[in-house]
Amino acid sequence: MPDWKIMIADGLDESGQSILQAEAQVDDRTGITADALKSQISAYDGLIVRGRTRVTADVLATAKRLQVVGRAGVGVDNIDLAAATGHDVIVVNAPRSTTLAVAEHTLALLLALARSIPQADAGMKTGHWLKKDLMGVELHGKVLGIIGVGNIGGQVARHAQALGMQVLGYDAVLSGADIQLHGVEPVELGYLYANSDFISLHVPLLPETRKMITGQTFGLMKKGVCLVCTARGGLIDETALLGALESGQVAGAALDVFANEPPGLTALVSHPHVIATPHIGAQTIEAQKRAAQDIAQEVMAALRGDPLRWRVV
Ligand code: NAD
Repeated sequence: MPDWKIMIADGLDESGQSILQAEAQVDDRTGITADALKSQISAYDGLIVRGRTRVTADVLATAKRLQVVGRAGVGVDNIDLAAATGHDVIVVNAPRSTTLAVAEHTLALLLALARSIPQADAGMKTGHWLKKDLMGVELHGKVLGIIGVGNIGGQVARHAQALGMQVLGYDAVLSGADIQLHGVEPVELGYLYANSDFISLHVPLLPETRKMITGQTFGLMKKGVCLVCTARGGLIDETALLGALESGQVAGAALDVFANEPPGLTALVSHPHVIATPHIGAQTIEAQKRAAQDIAQEVMAALRGDPLRWRVV
């Protein structure tokens, strides 16, 4: 058996670790610092990360043995893909593992926005009975605009339809027919902005999607729109969102992701019409188990030279 060494940098469910241990030496270095990663990575054939560890060009330049980086989840914006390609390092992810968890969290945020659940609970815990102040809206019959109708966007659409929402979708890559497969009406972005009561973002963070939601974009939306983002914080100009919340153009926002994480107690996080969660979209027992198993199998396949299901580069 080859003498493979794999580093786990951000934790991995035990079920994934045992798949790796059957064929390789595995070092769990959860929480490793950027400097320690850079100085120690040269001993490893495989590296498994979640979203915390940044696999930079610097790290990859020192990773002489490294053959594969596995992302136990979806987003690969913490990995320098160009540098990985330049150093012949394969990058794989586990794109299906967290779909249900993130979609369900998105639904939870939509419902929490519609009924001010965090505000109601905070009131109860400080002895205030806010019944008269907290008039909500029903999701049934409202229009949900989904930007990015991929795995998570498509699943959110199915959940939203079960609640009686009308779902519009825009996707820069998928065809109208692909979008319709989810029961979603394919529309242009301008139409989605102008006609949605709720808008949910599900696109990856790429150079072309960074700050795709600006002050100008909020001006194209219905006054009083509610925005949900469980994708990536960098998609939204957060200063512009704060302005749009203060002017009432945006009635509420529910954010699981932030441009800088953790953001601290910023004006956006503490705004009364913002519901903030600490990037917990994929934090379910089931999703983490699936992600660990999927990525362990994929990393071992890459080391063996077997065909790959989820090669990113
Ligand atoms: P996916 O690749 O299945 O879907 C993304 C969709 O966005 C694709 O259909 C793609 O064609 C589309 N797209 C790409 N560029 C676009 C653009 N400029 N405009 C419109 N559409 C565009 O990915 P997914 O698994 O559905 O993940 C979606 C997002 O969720 C990603 O940003 C991912 O990082 C994030 N995510 C967050 C968490 C969390 O914990 N909150 C967990 C997993 C994934």
